[in-house]
Amino acid sequence: MLRFAPSPNGPLHRGHALSLLANEAMADVLGLPLTIRMEDIDQSRARPAFERAILADIAWLGVAWTPPMRRQSEHFADYRDALTRLSARGLIYPSFATRREIAQAMRPGAPRDPDGAPRFIGDDAILGEAETARRRAGQTPAAWRLHMARAVDLVGTPTFRTVTADGTPDGEMPADPLAWGDVVLARKDTPTSYHLSVVVDDAHQGISHVVRGADLLAATAVHRVLQTLLDLPAPAYRHHPLILGPDGRKLSKSAGAESLEALAADGLTPGALRATLEPILREEPA
Ligand code: GLU
Repeated sequence: MLRFAPSPNGPLHRGHALSLLANEAMADVLGLPLTIRMEDIDQSRARPAFERAILADIAWLGVAWTPPMRRQSEHFADYRDALTRLSARGLIYPSFATRREIAQAMRPGAPRDPDGAPRFIGDDAILGEAETARRRAGQTPAAWRLHMARAVDLVGTPTFRTVTADGTPDGEMPADPLAWGDVVLARKDTPTSYHLSVVVDDAHQGISHVVRGADLLAATAVHRVLQTLLDLPAPAYRHHPLILGPDGRKLSKSAGAESLEALAADGLTPGALRATLEPILREEPA
């Protein structure tokens, strides 16, 4: 089983279409079904209208998929269960430092995680022991973070299986979870996070092959650690190349990438879009 997992926070652009077609191609070559997952845990940004538009875009591109569609916002209880299991093993802790406090405490040259954010290894380093203890006692709202060093002590340094564009197994890739530091598994305002929901859902949906953009390659290290801790199966992975905008960065709605709907209104046909994306699908990651 494969999945296309958009966030209904905005319209799809050509980058999403590439990911969708990469999943369709892999599903075809392996003879496996493709399903859809709406990654709508951020309820402040997710909109039913975007979900409807995404499903319309998928139909416009002519990609067949197998129901049921999974909507993450309907499964918060599953994520809580996973968090409870990690908590019972002493692997998560409440974390109080705000994003601003973390940024202010960051010294030049201090380590960053693969996404460029400060690498977090505990509130004490940011807030000091006394303030951390005060917030813990005062029941200040907290995020929950994975104690990554403890997790890696338990599960060792993971690897992950990769497949090429034609579905051929391509060996094991090393992963570096410690580079992430203590990632957030549940946010202050959302009882889960991208990392936690993805591993729980991939297991629930029986995902055997994860096909997604190269921007998520590094995150696979976190996912493999969580899969091992939670006793979930390890899918094989393919991280496809990204479409870059004129600024050399990946296409994004915030940088004004045109929506598929706008491109279609300008006369782009599904066939023409497929023809421009297909050569990129076959490229192997550098
Ligand atoms: N929802 C993520 C995105 O839109 C994809 C997550 C994944 O494939 O693991 O980038």
